[in-house]
Amino acid sequence: MENAAIVDHSSNVSPSNSSADSSATSSSQGEFAKRAGFSTLSVHAGEARQKPNDSITDSICCASTYTFESTQGILDYIEQKQDREEYGRYGNPNEKVVERKLAALDLAEDAILYSSGMAAIVGLLMAKLSAGDEIVFFDQCYHRSREFCAKHLARFGVVTHQVKTGDFKAMEAAMNARTKMIVSESPTNPHLTVIDLEQFVAIGKKHQVETLIDATLATPFNIRPIEYGVDYVWHSATKYMGGHNDLLAGVISGSKEKLESVRKLRGILGGINSPHNMYLLERGLKTFALRMQRHNENGQRVAEFLENHPRIERVYYPGLKSHASYDVAKRTMKGFGGLITFLVRDADWRQTAAVIDACRIPRIAPSLGGVESLIEQPLVMSYWDYSPEDRLRFGIHDNMIRMSCGIEDADDLIADLKQALEV
Ligand SMILES: *Cc1c(COP(=O)(O)O)cnc(C)c1O
Repeated sequence: MENAAIVDHSSNVSPSNSSADSSATSSSQGEFAKRAGFSTLSVHAGEARQKPNDSITDSICCASTYTFESTQGILDYIEQKQDREEYGRYGNPNEKVVERKLAALDLAEDAILYSSGMAAIVGLLMAKLSAGDEIVFFDQCYHRSREFCAKHLARFGVVTHQVKTGDFKAMEAAMNARTKMIVSESPTNPHLTVIDLEQFVAIGKKHQVETLIDATLATPFNIRPIEYGVDYVWHSATKYMGGHNDLLAGVISGSKEKLESVRKLRGILGGINSPHNMYLLERGLKTFALRMQRHNENGQRVAEFLENHPRIERVYYPGLKSHASYDVAKRTMKGFGGLITFLVRDADWRQTAAVIDACRIPRIAPSLGGVESLIEQPLVMSYWDYSPEDRLRFGIHDNMIRMSCGIEDADDLIADLKQALEV
């Protein structure tokens, strides 16, 4: 059955289809996405069954521009009778394949790729917000998202309100007739708070404002916010989707209608991906499900080890009963990912740094979601130039460590942390 679905789908997504066929493509892709398992989708969705040169992989199509046979060809294209490329800033075949694959994985109608996660959020917010509009954010979030809204959108007359993460009453209280969008991460970085998407969407619907979730830490493997009615799902594909610490990319998924203006603006802003980069992302996605299974397993095992270690004061991981989000996470997510944040008991920032420096397997670096485990101290890596008051406000403690569990053997990661905590 599933094999048949793959044949149906793929024969319908040849890049050379006419635009009349491409609406059939999206509906057949929708059917396929509902029937097929996540791993099958990761391997096959969005790709043509028969590719140029009969290659099983998508060839890297290096072109900054695309030729027309005649002036009539241009006119046919403009009048939307032809689904084809025009100029590299508007898209390329390699990027389109991955956009279809990611839309299928998110159960969304459409997905737009950007050259980084930040390019994606900037592209979306610039397309959707105008001077005088307001947005409301939960305060635990990626520090650059906060910075873009507070420092830059403000220059264009957009007002950002930050409220305490998970406090839906405060969120509603901060909304008014000018509110256009409510925004949250789930789980949040680095506190791993999981948002109740039913409540989040209900507030959006009640006030008729759009909803945006940064689901980078969850990935569609663990939760699909579109199923809850979220309007825009944002991922830094740099993390789990790419998965190999070797590329940057970002994606926004949602309905075709809502994303139309976003795609048009991307063509102007130009934060597009090179075909080479998209080849890497497509290749990385083939093993997405396998990697996520291991990230989930490793995250859970390492979190449980840390929670029981006498030198650890506190562990933030939604798969632990001690985490405030445990119930919501358990109810809504398949797994909880590889990211763990923890506090070293009675340690100042230098003693905390010593634990990191004593680790032999995780590498010291920002980022997360790759096959290699990474470890860092948020104070040093991201909040060094913040005042102690602001750090406290954002819940960044001197003795805080953030570890992204890769796909190594959990036993090895645990043994390594054990020896590092004894140093
Ligand atoms: C990394 C990250 C981003 C930004 O993505 P880039 O690809 O680095 O631009 C946004 N949100 C979260 C949760 C992230 O981890």
